[in-house]
Amino acid sequence: MVKVDIKYTKLFINNEWVDAVSKKTFPTINPQDETVITQVAEGDKADIDIAVAAAKKAFHRYSEWRTMDASQRGRLLLKLADLIERDYKYLADLETLDNGKPVKQAEGEVQWSAGIIRYYAGKADKILGSTIPADGEILTMTLKEPVGICGSILPWNYPVPMIVWKIAPALAAGCTLVVKPAEQTPLTALYIGALLKEAGFPAGVVNIIPGYGPTAGAALTHHPDVDKIAFTGSTEVGRIIMNAAAAVNLKRVTLELGGKSALVVFNDADVDKAAQIAHGAAFANAGQCCVAATRTYVQSGIYDKFVAKAAEIAKKRSVGNSYEDVQQGPQIDLDMFTKVMNYIKAGKSEGAKCVAGGDRQGKVGYFVQPTVFADVKDDMKIAREEIFGPVQSILKFETFEEVVDRANDSNYGLGAGVITNDITTALSFIKHVRAGSMWVNTYEHVTAQTPFGGFKESGLGRELGEEGITQYLEHKTVSFNLPKKPLV
Ligand code: NAD
Repeated sequence: MVKVDIKYTKLFINNEWVDAVSKKTFPTINPQDETVITQVAEGDKADIDIAVAAAKKAFHRYSEWRTMDASQRGRLLLKLADLIERDYKYLADLETLDNGKPVKQAEGEVQWSAGIIRYYAGKADKILGSTIPADGEILTMTLKEPVGICGSILPWNYPVPMIVWKIAPALAAGCTLVVKPAEQTPLTALYIGALLKEAGFPAGVVNIIPGYGPTAGAALTHHPDVDKIAFTGSTEVGRIIMNAAAAVNLKRVTLELGGKSALVVFNDADVDKAAQIAHGAAFANAGQCCVAATRTYVQSGIYDKFVAKAAEIAKKRSVGNSYEDVQQGPQIDLDMFTKVMNYIKAGKSEGAKCVAGGDRQGKVGYFVQPTVFADVKDDMKIAREEIFGPVQSILKFETFEEVVDRANDSNYGLGAGVITNDITTALSFIKHVRAGSMWVNTYEHVTAQTPFGGFKESGLGRELGEEGITQYLEHKTVSFNLPKKPLV
């Protein structure tokens, strides 16, 4: 195991490192060997109250942050991106330690995140209103203003990209934030706190409070001074957050939730290439990916060949020490490992045919064999529920109409993909399938410039792109009385 020097384990409030008011700490676990990496300060309601007060002060109308030139906000973000790139190897090593993902993948995610920050840095001084000639003697203009004090509640599957998706547009818009990282992966978020300070963001603009969901997370969503919550995680917790927001102060809410995405492969596809795309779509990040295409629908003419190829690729997938050149690390923790193993058991007992994997890998760490089920039926648990593990379900279909209905037969609507050489089939599929991100002959291509989010129970609002910053802005409409003749 690589030795990573852990620098920050306390709460980050007002650009200072402090203990929790309760003095409590919690362990963060290495999913590769199940050992405790370190103890981290455990924030709860008392700490959230202090952090929100700091964010409120930083948002005061005469504060350094609120009176800062918009282009200077952009410059600070550019500096943050430079610092993240400067330290990308350290951040990637730390991420692998805390999350377990392969270090090469972690490096890519950190560098990708720096690009997202730069995208929003460029937007900071381009937040424009409009002038609107309204009726008769009234001239109207619109102003776009920061929504205010924002709470960000983060998941553990992509810790660096997820904090960046939240803070970059919020900071470009001029908001202040209290961030609660996932309890499984607090370390990279805390390190980014240090980089925010080094970049020159004023005290209180970003505060980072590790802790648990029902305590620290709930305190943030229930806080009357918080104007907006951005959340990524389970649909179940998304519902809790929306209820809390509605009950307290109707705070704005954006939600990036779960999925059960379908990738549909038509008879005219190149089977080898299609199986490769489908493999990546299902197994990326050990399947711990909200848009993972875990339902692979394959047309009957190529079904048997496709199943054989999918099994062959999965069996070759390298799983193991994430500091080496592997494709897959462990699941995040014992809970998720157990949940995934139970889904594999359910797949077997419900009669799906396990053609690859199907077991734990090794005896230490939360590693799961890349698992492929064939002959899956739509009503099986593995075809309906989000597994969040390295499990691909392959289902056979005959016609276009049938597969569109089956792809749409889900409470989720995050992603969908189609593999075909027929442009009409691809465009018709895009038109009729209800999902926020659609891919043709590729999968999971997500960029800073393009909006990301879900239909149905996969979420509310969009992150990234122009839409991503809009979610951090309030629109103010101002009307001027312009008499026909000047008053003087
Ligand atoms: P979760 O939804 O429980 O946790 C996500 C975040 O929400 C964490 O920071 C957690 O502390 C916080 N949280 C939990 N309860 C809260 C509450 N009552 N109030 C406020 N915040 C709260 O997700 P999980 O338990 O880590 O994973 C469970 C399932 O969620 C997974 O199996 C997967 O299906 C899904 N998930 C989805 C994503 C995604 O990218 N959409 C990411 C992680 C997990």
